[in-house]
Amino acid sequence: MKLSRLIGERFKERPADCVIDSHALMLRGGYMKYVANGIYSSYLPLRRITRRIEQIIREEMDALDGQEVQLPVALPASLWEESGRYESVGQELLRFSDRNSSPMVLGMTHEEAAVALVRDYGSTYSRYPFMIYQIQTKFRDELRPRAGLIRVREFTMKDAYSFHTSKEDLNDYYMKCHAAYGRIFARAGIPEVVSVASDSGMMGGDISHEFMLLTPAGEDSVACCDACGYHANIETFPADIRHNSSAAADMQQDKTRSSAESAGAPGCDDGRFLNAVCPSCGRHALILRRGIEVGNIFQLGQKYTASMHMTYVDKDGSVKIPVMGCYGIGIGRLAASVCEAHHDEHGPIWPVSIAPWKVHLCAVRADHAEVRQTADLLYRQLTDARIDVIYDDRPVRAGIMFSDADLIGAPVRIIVSPRNLAEGCCEIAARDGSFQKKTRVEQVREAIEALFS
Ligand SMILES: [Zn+2]
Repeated sequence: MKLSRLIGERFKERPADCVIDSHALMLRGGYMKYVANGIYSSYLPLRRITRRIEQIIREEMDALDGQEVQLPVALPASLWEESGRYESVGQELLRFSDRNSSPMVLGMTHEEAAVALVRDYGSTYSRYPFMIYQIQTKFRDELRPRAGLIRVREFTMKDAYSFHTSKEDLNDYYMKCHAAYGRIFARAGIPEVVSVASDSGMMGGDISHEFMLLTPAGEDSVACCDACGYHANIETFPADIRHNSSAAADMQQDKTRSSAESAGAPGCDDGRFLNAVCPSCGRHALILRRGIEVGNIFQLGQKYTASMHMTYVDKDGSVKIPVMGCYGIGIGRLAASVCEAHHDEHGPIWPVSIAPWKVHLCAVRADHAEVRQTADLLYRQLTDARIDVIYDDRPVRAGIMFSDADLIGAPVRIIVSPRNLAEGCCEIAARDGSFQKKTRVEQVREAIEALFS
């Protein structure tokens, strides 16, 4: 891809309404564009990142014998009436009527549609267990969308649904999914994500976990035990402790925000002592930290299968109700969270696994014939070697070129300039500052291939 042809504007000024860095950087870097409150369009750089994240997720779900399906975005209200959620869910469920005055909803989660898809198939015990998943657009009419892709109204999610004939089998599968989630976040570049016991809220069911990236930019509060490593969403604590703690955490977050606005960089410690004993080790060692929820898993039990009359005939001929688990990851939110964890004041520093391009090739002084020839040659060589390159071939000043490269955040940069070429070299540098070296022009391809092998 030539940068001169890339659609989208990059700019220097931090937009005033951005409370977290990933939001500001993704607007400044031409990753996405505001359409309406909580609704964004993506440009190519973000699309390339989310495609890579989706591929990682597909591989991990397929490894659990998941079968990819596609459920509709627009659903008949009757499906949600079957489970009772048409009545129980509030205004975040967008309800509308089609031209025949039939009530419809925009799917914000797909338990009902998943049960409807496999209800007939799962009529006999021999077909269990099985899991279906999809990567698809959802709409949730949030009251307060915020923080760019962290809390939006329209978003893409991987949602998976597993069906079992016993709680034990569900639990085994749930633990495998828990482990797969650890691998997904590690592969996407945030191995530090922790899993916390959570309150399952409107999803119902007994056991659930949230996967949290601990960061001051987060909107959830997590109680972390420094003594034994226990983590839990503060929502699972008794109301009095929760109330005092959230008020303090909100104040802390306001402080973080205002210091971010004045100093131009967030990152002040959000940890504060929580006046409660750790439910795991009993010690007074709980610290309240902010977190972004990047995934969640639930043991739903029979909540949806029972209400929607899904049954199977067991070995002994008796009719039983299957148990169900569900497993979600927000794709855009994960991309923004990785940016939140990996950036500096100049832009994102994308991990190789999800970077939009691996290499950013800068032709400094593209009007200089030898620079142009060399950069064109390297672009061809690397593209032929199937290495993703964004090639800045524009006749612009080096300063503009480098600040745009910082915003695009490719892990490795190659600089072709008249000065380097006078020595027969190019400069190869890492976006994270870990190395910078001069390499003979004829050895650049080999050096880049070695970096990514
Ligand atoms: Zn503890």
